[in-house]
Amino acid sequence: MSILGATAGELVKRLDRGDVTSIDVTTAYLEAIAAADGKVNAFLHVNRDKALEQARAIDEKRRRGQCVGALGGLPVAIKDVICTQGEPTTCGSRMLERFVPPYDAHVISRLREADAVLIGRTNMDEFAMGSSTENSAYKTTSNPWDLTRTPGGSSGGSAAAVAACMAPLALGSDTGGSIRQPAGFCGVVGMKPTYGRVSRYGLVAYASSLDQIGPFANDVGGAALLLETIAGHDHRDSTSVAAAVPEYSRTVEEPLTGLRIGIAKEHFVSGLDQQVEAAIRNALEVYRSLGAEIKEVSLPHSKYAVAVYYIVAPSEASSNLARYDGVHYGHRAAHFDNMIDMYCASRAEGFGAEVKRRIMLGTYALSAGYYDAYYLKALKVRRLIRNDFDAAFREVDVIASPVAPTPAFKIGELVNDPLAMYLSDIYTISANLAGLPGISIPAGFSQTNLPIGLQLLAPPFEEERLLRAARMFERETDWHRRRPASAPG
Ligand code: GLN
Repeated sequence: MSILGATAGELVKRLDRGDVTSIDVTTAYLEAIAAADGKVNAFLHVNRDKALEQARAIDEKRRRGQCVGALGGLPVAIKDVICTQGEPTTCGSRMLERFVPPYDAHVISRLREADAVLIGRTNMDEFAMGSSTENSAYKTTSNPWDLTRTPGGSSGGSAAAVAACMAPLALGSDTGGSIRQPAGFCGVVGMKPTYGRVSRYGLVAYASSLDQIGPFANDVGGAALLLETIAGHDHRDSTSVAAAVPEYSRTVEEPLTGLRIGIAKEHFVSGLDQQVEAAIRNALEVYRSLGAEIKEVSLPHSKYAVAVYYIVAPSEASSNLARYDGVHYGHRAAHFDNMIDMYCASRAEGFGAEVKRRIMLGTYALSAGYYDAYYLKALKVRRLIRNDFDAAFREVDVIASPVAPTPAFKIGELVNDPLAMYLSDIYTISANLAGLPGISIPAGFSQTNLPIGLQLLAPPFEEERLLRAARMFERETDWHRRRPASAPG
């Protein structure tokens, strides 16, 4: 099988056996980027020379018989919100156009230790705020399955890169769905780990009580491998939890017996596209044929999730983004009259419209007199949402749902309707509010050949269960093997 058609696990095996070198693999992906990214626009920056240099060094290590890390020369694409020493990290914003971090994020150090090749930086909605990657200050990424449609967001570049065979693996961040929704739209696997599972040291903060870094891959095994590489305790992120990290890439092949799958009645309501619903119901039949039991559960507060999120996330964002004032960090305006004017002009020029909208929403919700009515209230409802999940997980092992209410929408279709855009995360946001792990896996296609994703959620720190449940389905289906016509190879 060609390099580009292989899964990450297959490639690692071939690299280990010496059937291919890291230079072969890296070159194949660089050529794929050269061939396809002119149309897809997944990358903000491609590390051609550095990637080849890293690949050469890993091949050399192997030739000398030295121990090689678990990724053994495999390229990984990185969402441009994760600090990488010596490489521009723009967060899709003019504000950080010239920011070159002096240090590596924890996940980047882990990737280097695992001998990954850092192939490039992927496009994203500015500061990870958005659901379509259209809020990037630099370019609009297309969905590889239909170039007139969005890849989802905010990690749209990472999802599109994997879907179009321009990287076997990628990292994204998920605050309200930004890994799972683009994975669903692009027909790849995307996973948000439990809050606390992966260190955010070096992740540029959007909403700190929700942000998690997670993997994209072209199959569940690849997601398991990448999660295993990046998960685990790091003292530099005080929310990182010192729980043992299972060997996901080994256990992922073990099917679960007696799996109980919950279906929330609140998830199958108006607004859900019929073809998406049909794909989810078919997926449940596949699970049933594997011996799983499907049970109805109730998540009565999930109807408030989007509203709660759009108080909590902008509130935290308004605080996190205060640091970009042209002095501590970020773009400084060239022309100003006095200090206040300098702050105002720098922020006015550096931030795009959606980021400004969120800062205003958050500042309002946190201001005296509104704090109790909005922010505190939202925190209370957030707890109720978590309680619903705790109750549901007493009855079932995982909860299955759509990833998004529709397949990928058109570029430009929702840009002037922020509320409709916000609703595209209706199925993903609850997991962030409750801190749960969630995975999106390919589960079918619409009549117009757009991917449809299935989301599985599990209790905190049950990523292993999630990956095994996802792999059970994947083994029975070939949705994940399909590639868009725009992909090279
Ligand atoms: N689409 C959501 C938002 O706009 C989620 C973004 C994310 O997960 N980073 O905030």
